[in-house]
Amino acid sequence: MHLGQDAELDVLRKRVRELASRHAPPRHGRTGVRAPEPEQVPALRKWTGMLFAENLLGVHWPVEHGGLEDPHPLHESVVTDELIRVGAAGPVGGGLLAAAAIIASGSAAQKDFFLPRIRSGEDIWCQLFSEPDAGSDLAGLRTKARLDGDAYVVDGQKVWTTNGQHADRGYLLARTDPDAPKHAGITAFALDMNTPGVTVRPLREITGTSDFNEVFLDGVRIPADRVIGGVNQGWAVTTTSLAHERSSAGSGASLFGALDRLARLAGEITRDGCPAIDRDDVRQVIGGFVADVHVNSLVSAFGDSRALHGSGDVADAPVSKILFSEINLALHEYGMQLQGHDGVRVEGDPLVHDNGWWQDAFLYGRAFTIAGGTNEVLRNLIAERALRLPR
Ligand SMILES: Cc1cc2nc3c(=O)[nH]c(=O)nc-3n(C[C@H](O)[C@H](O)[C@H](O)COP(=O)(O)OP(=O)(O)OC[C@H]3O[C@@H](n4cnc5c(N)ncnc54)[C@H](O)[C@@H]3O)c2cc1C
Repeated sequence: MHLGQDAELDVLRKRVRELASRHAPPRHGRTGVRAPEPEQVPALRKWTGMLFAENLLGVHWPVEHGGLEDPHPLHESVVTDELIRVGAAGPVGGGLLAAAAIIASGSAAQKDFFLPRIRSGEDIWCQLFSEPDAGSDLAGLRTKARLDGDAYVVDGQKVWTTNGQHADRGYLLARTDPDAPKHAGITAFALDMNTPGVTVRPLREITGTSDFNEVFLDGVRIPADRVIGGVNQGWAVTTTSLAHERSSAGSGASLFGALDRLARLAGEITRDGCPAIDRDDVRQVIGGFVADVHVNSLVSAFGDSRALHGSGDVADAPVSKILFSEINLALHEYGMQLQGHDGVRVEGDPLVHDNGWWQDAFLYGRAFTIAGGTNEVLRNLIAERALRLPR
């Protein structure tokens, strides 16, 4: 059997294609995880609900919460890849990340309340972790939560909150014990984003889009039963969902799509009077990317498979993420380099290639090297925890 190529997965791919052709809202025409326009959100909620109802997502969840008895280890990565391949939208928001935390650490009541709402698309989640002075050093976060009667009162600021402008719920980390060692005083909460005192302010990025937000928390009351996984246990809860984020940060399908675009681009651009694709130096580079993209795809499938069989290594998800994000960046940089002076053109310019897709992908490409832990920090992690090198 070839990894990721057995008959069961071919049937799954076909099911995704059929469902997507009938019901999927179109994917945004850009790379990466991008926030939808407000008017697109209702259709995306419905589509998210359909993906769960059709057992395309959430299959690794406990059976009593909608998971399957014996899902294929690659089921969800195949679904994600196929959706990208056919240009269909994926699920909206960070529900899968929040669900990973709730399933691993939440109470029975939290599982019964939140998981069906994620599955139906009723609740869009965002992740409220990073702060202006706490990103890589997440344990240095300063947002505070103090117990007041039957609720915690939260004050602080979060930043880089993907989809915060559309979210119904926030998976929040806050400091509940300022005197404990920094990893030991943090608690995870499920926050209702409509609570008084929550202000979401979209950020405008270099790409011209607003995918992230600042979130201000002023005297926000969270009922004490919305603590996920115990008071001051937030660091352990977080580790679960960050591992999930790293393994799902980038999809191989988006790289295969970018390769197709690169070959097309090299066919359109002329060098010394002939298409760039006819030149040996250009073909050498593109051939190298083809090899890299195939390696990335295999490494990512191998890591997913090991994780789901319980034989994973602490380096698997970071290696996949580093590999994906650096190939992605190099490929888009080369696409821009091929365009020469035309690389400065932008979306809407009649002479720009691929309607500015390359410029957007080039600018956004750096985001993948940062999201879910920067590549520098992940390299440290591999060195210290997998290779056990001295700190
Ligand atoms: C696409 C995207 C989506 C995101 N979505 C969310 C979200 O939904 N919710 C959320 O909470 N956050 C989100 N983030 C934020 C993300 O988690 C942080 O950007 C990331 O953790 C890095 O933190 P920082 O930006 O504060 O950079 P810093 O931690 O300030 O790092 C700055 C630079 O210093 C380097 N550096 C830092 N520490 C070390 C070290 N020990 N060794 C070597 N180099 C180091 C870093 O690699 C980086 O190059 C998102 C980010 C991106 C790009």
